Amino acid sequence: MPGRMALIPFIDPHVHADSRSGEELGRLRAAGCEGVAIVAGAAGGFSCPEGLYDYFRRLDRLDRRKVERSGLRAWVALGVHPAGIPDAGLDALEDGLGEALRAHGAQALGEIGLERCDEREQRLLLRELELAAELGLPAIVHTPREDKARALGLSLEILSRSGLDPERVLLDHLDEQTLELAEGSGCWLGLSVHPAKLDPERAAAIVDGRGPERIVVDSDCGANPSWLFALPAAISAMQDLSVPDAAIRAAVHDHALRFLGELAGET
Ligand SMILES: [Zn+2]
Repeated sequence: MPGRMALIPFIDPHVHADSRSGEELGRLRAAGCEGVAIVAGAAGGFSCPEGLYDYFRRLDRLDRRKVERSGLRAWVALGVHPAGIPDAGLDALEDGLGEALRAHGAQALGEIGLERCDEREQRLLLRELELAAELGLPAIVHTPREDKARALGLSLEILSRSGLDPERVLLDHLDEQTLELAEGSGCWLGLSVHPAKLDPERAAAIVDGRGPERIVVDSDCGANPSWLFALPAAISAMQDLSVPDAAIRAAVHDHALRFLGELAGET
């Protein structure tokens, strides 16, 4: 195809910005990024809820400022990653989490979800989805690498008991199989373009094959090997397949804004 293709702006709604530098975020801005959701991850190792709340405070203060100074819009998602549940104090965490989310400016819950699907994880996920409903916030729900379909089914069952509108949920790290299971749920469908998840070509083939309805592309970039430029790579893989610009823009920009509650309109 002759000439340069249009630069399509994008929003990345799953970035562990605490593990990325201001310089990297500036390069992301130059590549067409307009904003990122700074998502609490499995920083892990917290012995008690207070350690986790200090981590929330850091994301809200330092990482939010770092992202904004890079010229990007920032949303902060706070929550307990299933791989980062504090060793002790689950009851206290269930009681205190709502206040911590308010105190540290949470604009979404995330990332939350199931990893091993044990009792503790299920209990906490229900509480967090209930809090999202109470606080009027969207929620980014992780699905694990192992046993993804089972974890997704359980997560949807817990969601149905939580009172949270599926329209406010991003089911993340879906693949070709789990996408089919998730499609009837009414949730946003997250494709993470990431070395351990989907490469740009697979994500592009999914959008090309089924259309962009309810699809949200993100990077899940952070400290683990990951692709800072996941979205530009996905955009060019979609352009290579001649996916229309409007469909690409929906999957990498508009749906993320709608999920975050910033934009009304059609899926
Ligand atoms: Zn993540």
